[in-house]
Amino acid sequence: MTTVFNDPTQFAQDMLAGFCRLHADTVEPVTGGAIRATETPEGKVAVVIGGGSGHYPAFVGWVGPGMADGAVVGNVFSSPSTQQVHAVATAAERGGGVFLSYGNYAGDVLNFDLAQERLITDGIPTKTVVVSDDITSASTEERHKRRGTAGDLVVFKIAGAAAEAGYDLDGVVEVAERANDATFSFAVAFAGCTLPGDSEPLFTVPAGRMGVGMGVHGEPGIGEQDVLPASELATMLVDKLLTERPEGATRAAVLVNGLGGTKYEEMFVLWNSVAPLLDEAGVEMVAPEVGELITSLDMTGVSLTLFWLDPELEELWLAPAQTPGFRRGAAVATTRRTRTATDAAADTSFPPASEASQASAQRLVEIGTRLAAVLHEHEEEFGKLDAIAGDGDHGRGMTNGADAALNALTAAVNAGAGVASALAAAGDAWGDRAGGTSGALWGAGLRAAAGALSDEEAPSGAAVRAAVRAALDQLLSYGKAERGDKTMLDALIPFTEALEQDDRDLSAAWSAAADIATEHAQATADLTPRIGRARPLAERSIGHPDPGAVSLALVMRTAAP
Ligand code: ADP
Ligand code: MG
Repeated sequence: MTTVFNDPTQFAQDMLAGFCRLHADTVEPVTGGAIRATETPEGKVAVVIGGGSGHYPAFVGWVGPGMADGAVVGNVFSSPSTQQVHAVATAAERGGGVFLSYGNYAGDVLNFDLAQERLITDGIPTKTVVVSDDITSASTEERHKRRGTAGDLVVFKIAGAAAEAGYDLDGVVEVAERANDATFSFAVAFAGCTLPGDSEPLFTVPAGRMGVGMGVHGEPGIGEQDVLPASELATMLVDKLLTERPEGATRAAVLVNGLGGTKYEEMFVLWNSVAPLLDEAGVEMVAPEVGELITSLDMTGVSLTLFWLDPELEELWLAPAQTPGFRRGAAVATTRRTRTATDAAADTSFPPASEASQASAQRLVEIGTRLAAVLHEHEEEFGKLDAIAGDGDHGRGMTNGADAALNALTAAVNAGAGVASALAAAGDAWGDRAGGTSGALWGAGLRAAAGALSDEEAPSGAAVRAAVRAALDQLLSYGKAERGDKTMLDALIPFTEALEQDDRDLSAAWSAAADIATEHAQATADLTPRIGRARPLAERSIGHPDPGAVSLALVMRTAAP
Protein backbone atom coordinates (compact mmCIF):
# COMPACT_ATOMS: atom_id res chain seq x y z
CA MET A 1 0.00 0.00 0.00
CA THR A 2 1.24 3.51 -0.76
CA THR A 3 0.01 5.50 2.21
CA VAL A 4 1.86 8.81 2.47
CA PHE A 5 0.80 11.31 -0.17
CA ASN A 6 -1.25 14.46 -0.73
CA ASP A 7 -2.92 14.74 -4.15
CA PRO A 8 -2.01 11.42 -5.81
CA THR A 9 -1.66 13.13 -9.20
CA GLN A 10 1.07 15.33 -7.67
CA PHE A 11 2.94 12.42 -6.05
CA ALA A 12 5.98 12.54 -8.36
CA GLN A 13 6.36 16.33 -8.07
CA ASP A 14 6.01 16.24 -4.27
CA MET A 15 8.54 13.39 -4.07
CA LEU A 16 11.02 15.29 -6.25
CA ALA A 17 10.63 18.49 -4.25
CA GLY A 18 11.27 16.67 -0.96
CA PHE A 19 14.24 14.81 -2.39
CA CYS A 20 15.86 17.99 -3.71
CA ARG A 21 15.21 19.77 -0.40
CA LEU A 22 16.95 16.96 1.48
CA HIS A 23 19.91 16.69 -0.89
CA ALA A 24 20.30 20.37 -1.72
CA ASP A 25 24.11 20.08 -1.65
CA THR A 26 24.05 17.48 -4.45
CA VAL A 27 20.99 18.08 -6.62
CA GLU A 28 18.95 20.99 -7.81
CA PRO A 29 15.44 20.85 -9.26
CA VAL A 30 14.98 22.04 -12.86
CA THR A 31 12.01 21.86 -15.24
CA GLY A 32 11.41 18.15 -15.84
CA GLY A 33 13.66 16.69 -13.14
CA ALA A 34 16.94 17.48 -11.37
CA ILE A 35 20.59 18.16 -12.20
CA ARG A 36 23.79 18.26 -10.15
CA ALA A 37 24.05 21.23 -7.82
CA THR A 38 27.85 21.01 -8.05
CA GLU A 39 30.32 22.26 -10.67
CA THR A 40 31.22 19.96 -13.54
CA PRO A 41 34.08 20.72 -15.92
CA GLU A 42 33.36 22.52 -19.18
CA GLY A 43 33.37 20.06 -22.08
CA LYS A 44 32.36 17.01 -20.02
CA VAL A 45 29.78 14.69 -21.58
CA ALA A 46 26.49 15.16 -19.72
CA VAL A 47 24.98 11.84 -18.68
CA VAL A 48 21.20 12.22 -18.53
CA ILE A 49 19.10 9.31 -17.27
CA GLY A 50 15.45 8.97 -16.39
CA GLY A 51 12.11 7.26 -16.48
CA GLY A 52 8.94 7.07 -14.45
CA SER A 53 8.83 7.62 -10.68
CA GLY A 54 8.23 4.84 -8.17
CA HIS A 55 11.61 3.15 -8.71
CA TYR A 56 13.84 4.97 -6.17
CA PRO A 57 16.87 5.13 -6.05
CA ALA A 58 16.36 4.91 -9.83
CA PHE A 59 16.61 7.42 -11.30
CA VAL A 60 16.99 10.73 -9.51
CA GLY A 61 18.93 9.08 -6.65
CA TRP A 62 21.85 8.57 -9.04
CA VAL A 63 22.61 12.20 -9.84
CA GLY A 64 26.02 13.28 -8.61
CA PRO A 65 29.78 13.03 -9.23
CA GLY A 66 30.74 9.75 -10.89
CA MET A 67 27.24 9.02 -12.17
CA ALA A 68 24.54 11.13 -13.81
CA ASP A 69 24.54 14.86 -14.50
CA GLY A 70 20.76 14.97 -14.63
CA ALA A 71 17.69 12.79 -14.20
CA VAL A 72 14.32 13.21 -15.88
CA VAL A 73 11.46 12.45 -13.50
CA GLY A 74 8.19 11.21 -15.01
CA ASN A 75 4.96 10.48 -13.18
CA VAL A 76 4.62 7.20 -11.32
CA PHE A 77 5.39 4.32 -13.71
CA SER A 78 5.02 6.53 -16.78
CA SER A 79 7.55 7.92 -19.18
CA PRO A 80 8.62 11.53 -18.80
CA SER A 81 7.51 13.74 -21.71
CA THR A 82 9.74 14.76 -24.61
CA GLN A 83 9.71 18.29 -23.21
CA GLN A 84 10.94 17.11 -19.80
CA VAL A 85 13.83 15.15 -21.33
CA HIS A 86 14.77 18.11 -23.52
CA ALA A 87 14.63 20.55 -20.59
CA VAL A 88 16.77 18.44 -18.23
CA ALA A 89 19.35 17.68 -20.93
CA THR A 90 19.57 21.36 -21.87
CA ALA A 91 20.13 22.29 -18.23
CA ALA A 92 22.76 19.57 -17.67
CA GLU A 93 24.68 20.07 -20.92
CA ARG A 94 28.29 21.37 -20.55
CA GLY A 95 29.59 21.55 -24.11
CA GLY A 96 30.62 17.89 -24.44
CA GLY A 97 27.33 16.60 -25.78
CA VAL A 98 24.57 14.65 -24.07
CA PHE A 99 24.48 10.92 -23.39
CA LEU A 100 20.92 9.67 -22.81
CA SER A 101 20.22 6.35 -21.11
CA TYR A 102 17.08 4.70 -19.73
CA GLY A 103 15.35 1.34 -19.47
CA ASN A 104 13.77 -0.13 -22.58
CA TYR A 105 10.02 0.72 -22.54
CA ALA A 106 8.05 1.94 -25.57
CA GLY A 107 6.94 5.26 -24.03
CA ASP A 108 10.45 6.12 -22.85
CA VAL A 109 11.97 5.21 -26.22
CA LEU A 110 9.46 7.44 -27.99
CA ASN A 111 9.97 10.47 -25.76
CA PHE A 112 13.76 10.18 -25.38
CA ASP A 113 14.14 9.70 -29.17
CA LEU A 114 12.05 12.80 -29.89
CA ALA A 115 14.04 14.78 -27.32
CA GLN A 116 17.29 13.57 -28.87
CA GLU A 117 16.14 14.86 -32.25
CA ARG A 118 15.36 18.27 -30.73
CA LEU A 119 18.69 18.47 -28.91
CA ILE A 120 20.52 17.70 -32.16
CA THR A 121 18.46 20.42 -33.89
CA ASP A 122 19.57 22.78 -31.10
CA GLY A 123 23.19 21.97 -32.02
CA ILE A 124 23.86 19.66 -29.04
CA PRO A 125 25.41 16.32 -30.10
CA THR A 126 23.28 13.63 -28.41
CA LYS A 127 23.53 9.84 -28.34
CA THR A 128 21.58 7.13 -26.57
CA VAL A 129 22.11 3.68 -25.09
CA VAL A 130 18.91 1.88 -24.05
CA VAL A 131 19.24 -0.61 -21.18
CA SER A 132 17.90 -4.11 -21.93
CA ASP A 133 18.99 -6.61 -19.26
CA ASP A 134 15.85 -8.57 -18.25
CA ILE A 135 16.47 -12.03 -19.72
CA THR A 136 12.88 -13.20 -19.29
CA SER A 137 11.37 -10.49 -21.48
CA ALA A 138 12.86 -11.61 -24.84
CA SER A 139 15.25 -14.21 -26.22
CA THR A 140 18.99 -13.67 -26.79
CA GLU A 141 18.28 -13.28 -30.52
CA GLU A 142 15.96 -10.38 -29.69
CA ARG A 143 18.18 -8.90 -26.99
CA HIS A 144 17.26 -5.32 -27.99
CA LYS A 145 13.61 -6.08 -27.07
CA ARG A 146 14.46 -6.95 -23.45
CA ARG A 147 13.18 -4.63 -20.72
CA GLY A 148 15.55 -2.53 -18.65
CA THR A 149 15.62 -3.38 -14.92
CA ALA A 150 18.48 -3.44 -12.38
CA GLY A 151 20.90 -3.30 -15.31
CA ASP A 152 20.11 0.42 -15.35
CA LEU A 153 22.50 0.85 -12.43
CA VAL A 154 25.29 -0.94 -14.31
CA VAL A 155 24.98 1.04 -17.53
CA PHE A 156 24.55 4.41 -15.79
CA LYS A 157 27.51 3.72 -13.46
CA ILE A 158 29.80 2.77 -16.36
CA ALA A 159 28.72 5.73 -18.51
CA GLY A 160 28.95 8.11 -15.55
CA ALA A 161 32.47 6.94 -14.65
CA ALA A 162 33.61 7.19 -18.28
CA ALA A 163 32.21 10.71 -18.68
CA GLU A 164 33.84 11.74 -15.39
CA ALA A 165 37.17 10.32 -16.62
CA GLY A 166 36.98 12.55 -19.70
CA TYR A 167 35.82 10.06 -22.37
CA ASP A 168 34.20 11.80 -25.33
CA LEU A 169 30.60 11.13 -26.37
CA ASP A 170 31.45 8.21 -28.69
CA GLY A 171 33.71 6.74 -26.01
CA VAL A 172 30.93 6.88 -23.42
CA VAL A 173 28.51 5.23 -25.87
CA GLU A 174 31.02 2.47 -26.61
CA VAL A 175 31.57 1.41 -22.98
CA ALA A 176 27.89 1.81 -22.10
CA GLU A 177 26.88 -0.48 -24.97
CA ARG A 178 29.51 -2.99 -23.94
CA ALA A 179 28.23 -2.87 -20.34
CA ASN A 180 24.62 -3.37 -21.45
CA ASP A 181 25.57 -6.34 -23.64
CA ALA A 182 27.34 -7.91 -20.64
CA THR A 183 24.45 -7.49 -18.17
CA PHE A 184 21.74 -10.06 -17.40
CA SER A 185 18.94 -9.88 -14.80
CA PHE A 186 16.18 -12.17 -13.58
CA ALA A 187 13.40 -11.24 -11.12
CA VAL A 188 10.70 -12.89 -9.02
CA ALA A 189 7.79 -11.15 -7.30
CA PHE A 190 5.80 -12.27 -4.26
CA ALA A 191 3.15 -9.51 -4.12
CA GLY A 192 1.97 -6.57 -6.22
CA CYS A 193 2.37 -2.84 -5.70
CA THR A 194 -0.26 -0.14 -5.23
CA LEU A 195 -0.16 3.21 -7.01
CA PRO A 196 -0.66 6.27 -4.77
CA GLY A 197 -4.39 6.86 -4.36
CA ASP A 198 -5.41 3.38 -5.56
CA SER A 199 -7.14 1.01 -3.17
CA GLU A 200 -6.21 -2.16 -5.05
CA PRO A 201 -2.75 -3.35 -6.10
CA LEU A 202 -1.84 -3.21 -9.81
CA PHE A 203 -1.62 -7.00 -9.81
CA THR A 204 -1.71 -9.78 -7.22
CA VAL A 205 0.22 -12.99 -6.70
CA PRO A 206 -1.63 -15.69 -4.73
CA ALA A 207 -0.30 -16.29 -1.20
CA GLY A 208 2.54 -18.81 -1.15
CA ARG A 209 3.16 -18.37 -4.86
CA MET A 210 5.62 -16.21 -6.79
CA GLY A 211 5.61 -14.63 -10.24
CA VAL A 212 8.73 -15.62 -12.16
CA GLY A 213 10.21 -13.07 -14.55
CA MET A 214 7.89 -10.24 -13.48
CA GLY A 215 8.68 -6.73 -14.75
CA VAL A 216 9.21 -3.68 -12.54
CA HIS A 217 5.76 -2.30 -13.37
CA GLY A 218 4.02 -5.60 -12.69
CA GLU A 219 4.23 -6.77 -16.30
CA PRO A 220 3.28 -10.46 -16.35
CA GLY A 221 6.17 -12.88 -15.96
CA ILE A 222 6.96 -16.14 -17.69
CA GLY A 223 5.34 -18.28 -15.04
CA GLU A 224 4.09 -18.74 -11.49
CA GLN A 225 5.19 -21.32 -8.95
CA ASP A 226 5.29 -22.03 -5.24
CA VAL A 227 7.60 -19.79 -3.20
CA LEU A 228 10.93 -21.57 -2.64
CA PRO A 229 13.23 -21.59 0.41
CA ALA A 230 15.95 -18.92 -0.03
CA SER A 231 18.65 -21.42 -0.96
CA GLU A 232 16.52 -22.94 -3.72
CA LEU A 233 15.50 -19.51 -4.95
CA ALA A 234 19.21 -18.63 -5.15
CA THR A 235 19.87 -21.78 -7.19
CA MET A 236 17.03 -20.98 -9.56
CA LEU A 237 18.23 -17.39 -10.15
CA VAL A 238 21.92 -18.29 -10.47
CA ASP A 239 21.36 -21.30 -12.77
CA LYS A 240 19.14 -19.33 -15.11
CA LEU A 241 21.57 -16.39 -15.36
CA LEU A 242 24.56 -18.66 -15.91
CA THR A 243 22.90 -20.05 -19.05
CA GLU A 244 23.75 -16.71 -20.67
CA ARG A 245 27.32 -16.53 -19.35
CA PRO A 246 29.56 -15.22 -22.16
CA GLU A 247 32.42 -17.45 -23.41
CA GLY A 248 35.39 -17.35 -21.06
CA ALA A 249 33.87 -14.77 -18.67
CA THR A 250 35.07 -15.13 -15.08
CA ARG A 251 34.84 -11.79 -13.30
CA ALA A 252 31.42 -10.25 -12.64
CA ALA A 253 29.77 -7.49 -10.66
CA VAL A 254 26.73 -9.01 -8.95
CA LEU A 255 23.58 -7.19 -7.86
CA VAL A 256 20.82 -8.46 -5.59
CA ASN A 257 18.00 -5.97 -5.95
CA GLY A 258 15.03 -5.60 -3.63
CA LEU A 259 11.86 -4.46 -5.40
CA GLY A 260 10.65 -2.26 -2.55
CA GLY A 261 8.71 -4.45 -0.12
CA THR A 262 11.39 -7.06 0.53
CA LYS A 263 13.58 -6.46 3.60
CA TYR A 264 17.36 -6.02 3.51
CA GLU A 265 17.57 -8.91 5.98
CA GLU A 266 15.83 -11.17 3.46
CA MET A 267 18.25 -10.07 0.77
CA PHE A 268 21.22 -10.92 3.03
CA VAL A 269 19.75 -14.39 3.52
CA LEU A 270 19.52 -14.76 -0.25
CA TRP A 271 23.07 -13.47 -0.72
CA ASN A 272 24.31 -16.07 1.73
CA SER A 273 23.28 -18.70 -0.84
CA VAL A 274 23.96 -16.76 -4.05
CA ALA A 275 27.63 -16.00 -3.28
CA PRO A 276 28.73 -19.63 -2.63
CA LEU A 277 26.89 -20.79 -5.76
CA LEU A 278 28.69 -18.24 -7.91
CA ASP A 279 31.95 -19.15 -6.19
CA GLU A 280 31.44 -22.79 -7.09
CA ALA A 281 30.73 -21.82 -10.68
CA GLY A 282 34.11 -20.06 -10.83
CA VAL A 283 32.70 -16.54 -10.86
CA GLU A 284 34.99 -13.97 -9.21
CA MET A 285 32.65 -11.40 -7.69
CA VAL A 286 33.75 -7.76 -7.91
CA ALA A 287 32.19 -5.13 -5.62
CA PRO A 288 28.77 -6.80 -5.36
CA GLU A 289 25.74 -4.73 -4.35
CA VAL A 290 22.86 -6.00 -2.23
CA GLY A 291 19.98 -3.62 -1.58
CA GLU A 292 17.23 -1.56 -3.15
CA LEU A 293 18.54 -0.46 -6.55
CA ILE A 294 15.50 -0.23 -8.77
CA THR A 295 12.26 -0.67 -6.90
CA SER A 296 8.66 -0.92 -7.90
CA LEU A 297 6.87 1.06 -5.18
CA ASP A 298 5.93 -1.48 -2.49
CA MET A 299 6.22 -4.62 -4.63
CA THR A 300 7.80 -7.51 -2.77
CA GLY A 301 10.31 -9.46 -4.77
CA VAL A 302 13.97 -9.66 -5.67
CA SER A 303 16.14 -9.81 -8.73
CA LEU A 304 19.66 -11.01 -9.42
CA THR A 305 21.95 -9.36 -11.97
CA LEU A 306 25.30 -10.53 -13.36
CA PHE A 307 27.48 -7.95 -15.11
CA TRP A 308 30.44 -9.65 -16.78
CA LEU A 309 33.58 -7.52 -16.59
CA ASP A 310 36.59 -6.85 -18.78
CA PRO A 311 39.51 -4.81 -17.37
CA GLU A 312 38.21 -1.46 -18.63
CA LEU A 313 34.64 -2.08 -17.43
CA GLU A 314 35.99 -3.25 -14.07
CA GLU A 315 37.97 -0.05 -13.60
CA LEU A 316 34.89 2.03 -14.43
CA TRP A 317 32.68 -0.12 -12.13
CA LEU A 318 35.12 0.53 -9.27
CA ALA A 319 35.56 4.27 -9.91
CA PRO A 320 34.29 6.62 -7.17
CA ALA A 321 30.69 7.79 -7.20
CA GLN A 322 28.90 10.09 -4.82
CA THR A 323 25.17 10.27 -5.25
CA PRO A 324 22.30 10.17 -2.74
CA GLY A 325 21.40 6.63 -3.81
CA PHE A 326 24.77 5.08 -4.68
CA ARG A 327 28.19 5.70 -3.17
CA ARG A 328 31.52 4.17 -3.96
CA GLY A 329 35.12 4.94 -2.96
CA ALA A 330 36.62 7.99 -1.34
CA ALA A 331 34.58 11.18 -1.15
CA VAL A 332 34.90 13.35 -4.25
CA ALA A 333 35.67 17.02 -3.61
CA THR A 334 32.88 19.19 -5.02
CA THR A 335 32.15 22.87 -5.25
CA ARG A 336 28.72 24.36 -5.43
CA ARG A 337 27.72 25.45 -8.92
CA THR A 338 27.58 29.19 -9.37
CA ARG A 339 26.25 29.54 -12.94
CA THR A 340 22.50 29.22 -13.37
CA ALA A 341 21.31 26.34 -15.49
CA THR A 342 19.77 27.07 -18.89
CA ASP A 343 16.04 26.63 -18.56
CA ALA A 344 14.78 25.47 -21.94
CA ALA A 345 11.19 25.86 -20.77
CA ALA A 346 11.59 29.45 -19.58
CA ASP A 347 12.06 30.97 -23.05
CA THR A 348 8.63 32.34 -23.91
CA SER A 349 9.67 34.85 -26.57
CA PHE A 350 8.72 34.32 -30.23
CA PRO A 351 10.41 35.34 -33.47
CA PRO A 352 8.93 38.37 -35.25
CA ALA A 353 5.88 37.50 -37.37
CA SER A 354 3.98 39.12 -40.23
CA GLU A 355 0.45 40.38 -39.66
CA ALA A 356 -0.92 37.75 -42.04
CA SER A 357 0.78 34.97 -40.11
CA GLN A 358 -0.43 36.42 -36.79
CA ALA A 359 -3.98 36.48 -38.16
CA SER A 360 -3.66 32.78 -39.08
CA ALA A 361 -2.43 32.07 -35.56
CA GLN A 362 -5.56 33.78 -34.25
CA ARG A 363 -7.66 31.39 -36.39
CA LEU A 364 -5.80 28.51 -34.76
CA VAL A 365 -7.02 29.77 -31.39
CA GLU A 366 -10.60 29.61 -32.70
CA ILE A 367 -10.04 26.06 -33.95
CA GLY A 368 -8.34 25.12 -30.66
CA THR A 369 -11.30 26.47 -28.67
CA ARG A 370 -13.78 24.39 -30.70
CA LEU A 371 -11.55 21.33 -30.39
CA ALA A 372 -11.16 21.51 -26.63
CA ALA A 373 -14.94 21.82 -26.21
CA VAL A 374 -15.70 18.88 -28.52
CA LEU A 375 -13.04 16.66 -26.93
CA HIS A 376 -14.48 17.35 -23.46
CA GLU A 377 -17.89 16.22 -24.75
CA HIS A 378 -16.33 12.94 -25.92
CA GLU A 379 -13.93 12.39 -23.00
CA GLU A 380 -15.95 9.62 -21.40
CA GLU A 381 -16.63 7.88 -24.70
CA PHE A 382 -12.92 7.76 -25.62
CA GLY A 383 -12.03 6.58 -22.12
CA LYS A 384 -14.50 3.69 -22.40
CA LEU A 385 -13.23 2.76 -25.84
CA ASP A 386 -9.63 2.70 -24.57
CA ALA A 387 -10.65 0.62 -21.54
CA ILE A 388 -11.84 -2.26 -23.74
CA ALA A 389 -8.30 -3.43 -24.47
CA GLY A 390 -6.08 -0.53 -23.32
CA ASP A 391 -5.83 1.37 -20.03
CA GLY A 392 -8.80 3.75 -20.28
CA ASP A 393 -6.85 7.02 -20.27
CA HIS A 394 -7.34 8.12 -23.85
CA GLY A 395 -10.27 10.51 -23.23
CA ARG A 396 -8.39 12.19 -20.43
CA GLY A 397 -5.21 12.33 -22.48
CA MET A 398 -6.96 14.09 -25.37
CA THR A 399 -8.66 16.71 -23.16
CA ASN A 400 -5.47 17.33 -21.16
CA GLY A 401 -3.58 17.77 -24.41
CA ALA A 402 -6.17 20.00 -26.08
CA ASP A 403 -6.57 22.21 -22.98
CA ALA A 404 -2.80 22.67 -22.61
CA ALA A 405 -2.42 23.34 -26.34
CA LEU A 406 -5.18 25.96 -26.26
CA ASN A 407 -3.56 27.73 -23.31
CA ALA A 408 -0.21 27.75 -25.05
CA LEU A 409 -1.77 28.94 -28.32
CA THR A 410 -3.56 31.78 -26.60
CA ALA A 411 -0.40 32.86 -24.79
CA ALA A 412 1.60 32.68 -28.01
CA VAL A 413 -0.93 34.74 -29.95
CA ASN A 414 -1.04 37.34 -27.18
CA ALA A 415 2.76 37.54 -27.38
CA GLY A 416 2.55 38.24 -31.13
CA ALA A 417 3.59 34.80 -32.41
CA GLY A 418 3.09 33.82 -36.04
CA VAL A 419 1.23 30.66 -37.05
CA ALA A 420 4.32 28.40 -37.16
CA SER A 421 5.57 29.41 -33.72
CA ALA A 422 2.09 29.31 -32.21
CA LEU A 423 1.46 25.79 -33.52
CA ALA A 424 4.90 24.64 -32.29
CA ALA A 425 4.09 25.99 -28.82
CA ALA A 426 0.74 24.19 -28.92
CA GLY A 427 2.45 20.92 -29.89
CA ASP A 428 4.96 21.31 -27.07
CA ALA A 429 2.22 21.89 -24.53
CA TRP A 430 0.14 18.98 -25.84
CA GLY A 431 3.11 16.58 -25.71
CA ASP A 432 4.11 17.73 -22.25
CA ARG A 433 0.67 17.55 -20.60
CA ALA A 434 -1.43 14.91 -22.34
CA GLY A 435 0.41 11.80 -21.14
CA GLY A 436 0.34 8.40 -22.87
CA THR A 437 1.64 7.28 -26.23
CA SER A 438 -0.95 9.24 -28.14
CA GLY A 439 -0.01 12.43 -26.25
CA ALA A 440 3.66 12.16 -27.20
CA LEU A 441 2.69 11.45 -30.82
CA TRP A 442 0.14 14.29 -31.03
CA GLY A 443 2.74 16.69 -29.60
CA ALA A 444 5.40 15.55 -32.02
CA GLY A 445 2.99 15.62 -34.96
CA LEU A 446 1.85 19.19 -34.25
CA ARG A 447 5.47 20.33 -33.93
CA ALA A 448 6.37 18.67 -37.22
CA ALA A 449 3.37 20.33 -38.87
CA ALA A 450 4.55 23.69 -37.53
CA GLY A 451 7.89 23.08 -39.22
CA ALA A 452 6.16 23.14 -42.62
CA LEU A 453 4.54 26.55 -41.91
CA SER A 454 6.12 29.99 -41.50
CA ASP A 455 5.81 33.12 -39.37
CA GLU A 456 6.12 35.28 -42.50
CA GLU A 457 2.96 34.45 -44.41
CA ALA A 458 -0.51 32.99 -44.04
CA PRO A 459 -0.39 29.27 -44.93
CA SER A 460 -1.52 28.41 -48.47
CA GLY A 461 -3.56 25.27 -49.21
CA ALA A 462 -0.33 23.64 -50.36
CA ALA A 463 1.44 24.59 -47.11
CA VAL A 464 -1.36 23.09 -45.01
CA ARG A 465 -1.19 19.87 -47.07
CA ALA A 466 2.60 19.79 -46.56
CA ALA A 467 2.12 20.34 -42.82
CA VAL A 468 -0.29 17.39 -42.54
CA ARG A 469 2.15 15.20 -44.49
CA ALA A 470 5.02 16.30 -42.20
CA ALA A 471 2.98 15.33 -39.15
CA LEU A 472 2.19 11.90 -40.64
CA ASP A 473 5.86 11.30 -41.52
CA GLN A 474 6.87 12.17 -37.97
CA LEU A 475 4.31 9.75 -36.48
CA LEU A 476 5.39 6.97 -38.83
CA SER A 477 9.06 7.41 -38.03
CA TYR A 478 8.78 7.72 -34.23
CA GLY A 479 5.71 5.61 -33.49
CA LYS A 480 7.02 2.78 -35.68
CA ALA A 481 3.48 1.62 -36.44
CA GLU A 482 2.24 0.83 -39.94
CA ARG A 483 -1.06 1.00 -41.75
CA GLY A 484 -3.28 -1.79 -40.43
CA ASP A 485 -1.72 -1.96 -36.95
CA LYS A 486 -4.96 -0.50 -35.55
CA THR A 487 -3.74 2.92 -34.47
CA MET A 488 -4.57 6.53 -35.24
CA LEU A 489 -2.47 6.13 -38.38
CA ASP A 490 -5.33 4.12 -39.89
CA ALA A 491 -7.32 7.38 -39.89
CA LEU A 492 -4.44 9.80 -40.53
CA ILE A 493 -2.98 8.01 -43.56
CA PRO A 494 -6.27 8.04 -45.57
CA PHE A 495 -6.91 11.61 -44.38
CA THR A 496 -3.53 12.80 -45.65
CA GLU A 497 -3.83 10.98 -48.97
CA ALA A 498 -7.35 12.26 -49.58
CA LEU A 499 -6.31 15.83 -48.78
CA GLU A 500 -3.34 15.64 -51.12
CA GLN A 501 -5.35 14.13 -53.97
CA ASP A 502 -8.24 16.60 -53.75
CA ASP A 503 -7.30 19.82 -55.53
CA ARG A 504 -10.42 21.75 -54.60
CA ASP A 505 -10.01 24.65 -52.20
CA LEU A 506 -8.69 23.69 -48.78
CA SER A 507 -11.96 23.93 -46.92
CA ALA A 508 -13.86 21.57 -49.30
CA ALA A 509 -10.93 19.14 -49.56
CA TRP A 510 -10.42 19.07 -45.78
CA SER A 511 -14.10 18.32 -45.04
CA ALA A 512 -14.14 15.50 -47.58
CA ALA A 513 -10.88 14.08 -46.18
CA ALA A 514 -12.29 14.28 -42.63
CA ASP A 515 -15.31 12.18 -43.74
CA ILE A 516 -12.93 9.61 -45.22
CA ALA A 517 -10.91 9.56 -41.98
CA THR A 518 -14.13 8.96 -40.03
CA GLU A 519 -15.07 5.96 -42.21
CA HIS A 520 -11.59 4.48 -41.86
CA ALA A 521 -11.59 5.08 -38.11
CA GLN A 522 -14.86 3.14 -37.76
CA ALA A 523 -13.45 0.40 -40.01
CA THR A 524 -10.59 -0.22 -37.56
CA ALA A 525 -13.18 -2.22 -35.59
CA ASP A 526 -12.33 -5.18 -37.85
CA LEU A 527 -8.59 -4.93 -37.17
CA THR A 528 -6.44 -6.61 -34.51
CA PRO A 529 -4.04 -4.28 -32.62
CA ARG A 530 -0.41 -5.07 -33.45
CA ILE A 531 1.26 -2.29 -31.43
CA GLY A 532 0.69 -0.29 -28.25
CA ARG A 533 -1.06 -1.11 -25.00
CA ALA A 534 -4.00 -2.83 -26.67
CA ARG A 535 -1.77 -5.53 -28.21
CA PRO A 536 -1.65 -7.96 -25.22
CA LEU A 537 -5.48 -8.03 -25.05
CA ALA A 538 -5.85 -7.83 -28.80
CA GLU A 539 -8.83 -10.17 -29.21
CA ARG A 540 -10.96 -8.07 -26.83
CA SER A 541 -10.55 -5.13 -29.15
CA ILE A 542 -12.02 -6.86 -32.22
CA GLY A 543 -15.42 -5.39 -33.05
CA HIS A 544 -14.50 -2.03 -31.47
CA PRO A 545 -12.77 0.81 -33.32
CA ASP A 546 -9.34 2.07 -32.21
CA PRO A 547 -9.74 4.98 -29.77
CA GLY A 548 -6.82 6.95 -31.22
CA ALA A 549 -8.22 6.62 -34.75
CA VAL A 550 -11.72 7.69 -33.69
CA SER A 551 -10.44 10.72 -31.77
CA LEU A 552 -8.20 11.73 -34.66
CA ALA A 553 -11.12 11.65 -37.08
CA LEU A 554 -13.18 13.77 -34.69
CA VAL A 555 -10.33 16.29 -34.42
CA MET A 556 -10.11 16.52 -38.20
CA ARG A 557 -13.88 17.04 -38.55
CA THR A 558 -13.83 19.73 -35.87
CA ALA A 559 -10.71 21.47 -37.17
CA ALA A 560 -12.06 21.94 -40.72
CA PRO A 561 -10.95 25.41 -41.82
P1 ADP B 1 -1.57 4.86 -24.11
O1 ADP B 1 -1.73 3.75 -25.11
O2 ADP B 1 -0.16 5.14 -23.80
O3 ADP B 1 -2.45 4.67 -22.90
P2 ADP B 1 -3.59 6.61 -25.22
O4 ADP B 1 -4.58 5.74 -24.55
O5 ADP B 1 -3.76 8.08 -25.03
O6 ADP B 1 -2.12 6.18 -24.88
O7 ADP B 1 -3.69 6.39 -26.79
C1 ADP B 1 -3.92 5.14 -27.34
C2 ADP B 1 -3.89 5.31 -28.84
O8 ADP B 1 -2.60 5.66 -29.27
C3 ADP B 1 -4.21 4.03 -29.58
O9 ADP B 1 -5.60 3.88 -29.72
C4 ADP B 1 -3.52 4.23 -30.92
O10 ADP B 1 -4.37 4.90 -31.83
C5 ADP B 1 -2.40 5.20 -30.59
N1 ADP B 1 -1.07 4.56 -30.64
C6 ADP B 1 -0.50 3.75 -29.73
N2 ADP B 1 0.74 3.38 -30.13
C7 ADP B 1 0.93 3.98 -31.34
C8 ADP B 1 2.00 4.02 -32.29
N3 ADP B 1 3.13 3.36 -32.05
N4 ADP B 1 1.84 4.76 -33.42
C9 ADP B 1 0.70 5.43 -33.65
N5 ADP B 1 -0.33 5.45 -32.79
C10 ADP B 1 -0.22 4.74 -31.67
MG1 MG C 1 -4.50 4.50 -23.06
